[in-house]
Amino acid sequence: MNIIITPNQSPVSDSVREEMVAAGGFGKFYTDNMVIANWSEADGWGDAVLQPYGPLTLDPATAVFHYGQEIFEGMKAYSQPDGGISLFRPEANAARFGRSAARLALPEMPIEFFVQSVEELVKQDRNWVPKNFGESLYLRPFMIATEVGLGVRPSNKAMYLLIATPASAYFDPSKAVTVWISTEYVRAAEGGTGEAKCGGNYAASLIAQKQAALQGCDQVVWLDAKERFWVEEMGGMNLYFVKGSGADATIVTPKLTGTLLPGITRDSILTVAADLGYKVEEVMISIDDWRDGVASGEITEIFACGTAAVVSPIGAAKSAHGTWTTGDGNPGPITAQIRETLLGIQHGTIEDKHGWNKRVC
Ligand SMILES: *Cc1c(COP(=O)(O)O)cnc(C)c1O
Repeated sequence: MNIIITPNQSPVSDSVREEMVAAGGFGKFYTDNMVIANWSEADGWGDAVLQPYGPLTLDPATAVFHYGQEIFEGMKAYSQPDGGISLFRPEANAARFGRSAARLALPEMPIEFFVQSVEELVKQDRNWVPKNFGESLYLRPFMIATEVGLGVRPSNKAMYLLIATPASAYFDPSKAVTVWISTEYVRAAEGGTGEAKCGGNYAASLIAQKQAALQGCDQVVWLDAKERFWVEEMGGMNLYFVKGSGADATIVTPKLTGTLLPGITRDSILTVAADLGYKVEEVMISIDDWRDGVASGEITEIFACGTAAVVSPIGAAKSAHGTWTTGDGNPGPITAQIRETLLGIQHGTIEDKHGWNKRVC
């Protein structure tokens, strides 16, 4: 597979782009270019094209509009101290994209091709990568089923797209978020699509997000589908609990059971926390453990993690069972330390011992 580079000949002006990058937020503005590649069962993947960012024209009977056959990824390019740009573990996103594709009966894309498409777009739109620490260019690769027709079957055509948007901190890291633990709705059940990054998981989660907002909470926490007892994830992020404090603290995260999304940030923190000298465990954590842990003071900090927000502290948790507040409700020191360490690695200010950064330009 090749990438044909036909970039935007009328990119936005330097001053307008700089304003858009400085405006921060998440997903407000998109860069000058995007990548598109088409697949068909008969011919496999065609060449990808890097072309001006713009709308698509699709037949209203296109499969994705009706049966939701869609997957996506989320990853970031970070500016480096010498002015260059690096991606963080892009092969891990490529591998997960392949697993999501397999689950949604979409075609798998070669890892090298996925990574190459991301590198080319970042190179082309490098002026859109924010320079400040904690800011980045967020990349959104996705794939949709493009066979035209209302018959319910795996699509024999698919389209891969890649777009990019400058991102500042998704949540304010100095403020703890409050969460609503949903006992009414579930995100994922065994045998379902919980491990895949597909739009359908999000579509089904929005009603609970609405409920959380009505309860005055920022995010939803999901429990397991069977017992509604085991803590799984928060919104589109994985969870971590800090037990104890100082150098003796243990950092635990819900074990991957097949219904949780295996986050690359989650995986990176398992390593970063161990490097910092903490004991790290992947275990089953129940809502009782949460309630009793914060009540006794054994759980000192809770945070969520994911590419978009990196690390986000959690204060109060509300549910049908009551309200539990972690510590004094403010972000804790280990949460901050892990956030700073991970961001430092991503921005090249802390040694990248594990070879996670992939230099693009
Ligand atoms: C993407 C996602 C995460 C976080 O994964 P990262 O690779 O760390 O960005 C966690 N949970 C869900 C449901 C997700 O979609």
